[in-house]
Amino acid sequence: MKQETRGIPLSSPYVGEREEELVLEVLRSGRLSLGPTIDRFEELFAAATGAPYAAAVSSGTAGLHLLCVSAGIEAGDEVITTPYSFAASANCFIYEGAVPVFADVDPQTLNLDPAAVEALVTERTKAIVAVDIFGYPCELDELRAIAQRHGLAFVQDSCEGLGAEYKGAPVGSHGPSAVFAFYPNKQITTGEGGIVTTHSEEEWRLLRSLRNQGRGDEGGWLEHVRLGFNYRLDDVRAALGIAQLEKLDEILCLRREVAARYGELLRDIDGVELPFPDDADHVRSWFVYVVKLPSRQARERVIAHFEREGIGFNRYLPSIHLQPYMRKRYGFREGLCPVSEDASSRTLALPFFTALERDAQERVAEALATAL
Ligand SMILES: *Cc1c(COP(=O)(O)O)cnc(C)c1O
Repeated sequence: MKQETRGIPLSSPYVGEREEELVLEVLRSGRLSLGPTIDRFEELFAAATGAPYAAAVSSGTAGLHLLCVSAGIEAGDEVITTPYSFAASANCFIYEGAVPVFADVDPQTLNLDPAAVEALVTERTKAIVAVDIFGYPCELDELRAIAQRHGLAFVQDSCEGLGAEYKGAPVGSHGPSAVFAFYPNKQITTGEGGIVTTHSEEEWRLLRSLRNQGRGDEGGWLEHVRLGFNYRLDDVRAALGIAQLEKLDEILCLRREVAARYGELLRDIDGVELPFPDDADHVRSWFVYVVKLPSRQARERVIAHFEREGIGFNRYLPSIHLQPYMRKRYGFREGLCPVSEDASSRTLALPFFTALERDAQERVAEALATAL
């Protein structure tokens, strides 16, 4: 890792010789897809999250889409979700023709506010898609209870939450179903890729069929028992995933240390609000390091300074309902979700990755203090 050069990237994957070794093994085996490496990866992932079943897929978005298909979401259904997230958590049900209904978030955790969710349930509501934003577990018990009371499906987007804990157990172990993603900025990466954990053997079988063009357990290669997709993960990526899982504890620990160092370095800078701390029920898995600044103007001042200094950043996250395609399709406007919109105008992602070193973090802290 060359951090002595001037630039500090926003993100950087943590891969090494073990990844090369396992990928090379698969390449030499000739089993590049639908091979044994996928099954092994799924078993290891299920064990790591405490979920009984896991089905690997080509991306987090693909996994979310498959859970929406599995939930029977159809055209005209309403799905309640969070605006303060990555677009995929809303897109996944729009693919099936459902309409997004955005409930506002809690100003501190930035996760769905259960009371706001329940207030939006109607006759047409079919599901809730909750997100563990920035790796902070959502209010799972309250949200699942709302889903149960109203007979709704519940999908947990844990694409940023691998390694997080809710009420003392890892995200993925509570059920019903969760999705994790492996793009290179996530805690672990397969380049592109994702996985769905489920507590239902029946759903697991359905997911394996759906990702594989709707093929059945029996029957030949050219027999399709349902409308499916090509959402398969290949064995090369699964090998990368196995090597990454082998060092999951190390990765999570290093990321915790990086976050703790930022906490120390930024604590006394006026105008910087740090990520919401853990409590007994919520243990964050560090995906990104996002701070809240006093205003949009202050954020632009910081960004201008970061650009001069070669420091990576992102205006993370814009509210989904105000994205151009959302405004155009559904007519959403400012004011629909004030808490999310306020956060979107002031939150800033700082450089954050597993091998980020203290001197780089000191430079980031200095730049922040100077700009503010
Ligand atoms: C990364 C991410 C996804 C899925 O991303 P892919 O690039 O499709 O793997 C979905 N939701 C959230 C909140 C994410 O951060």
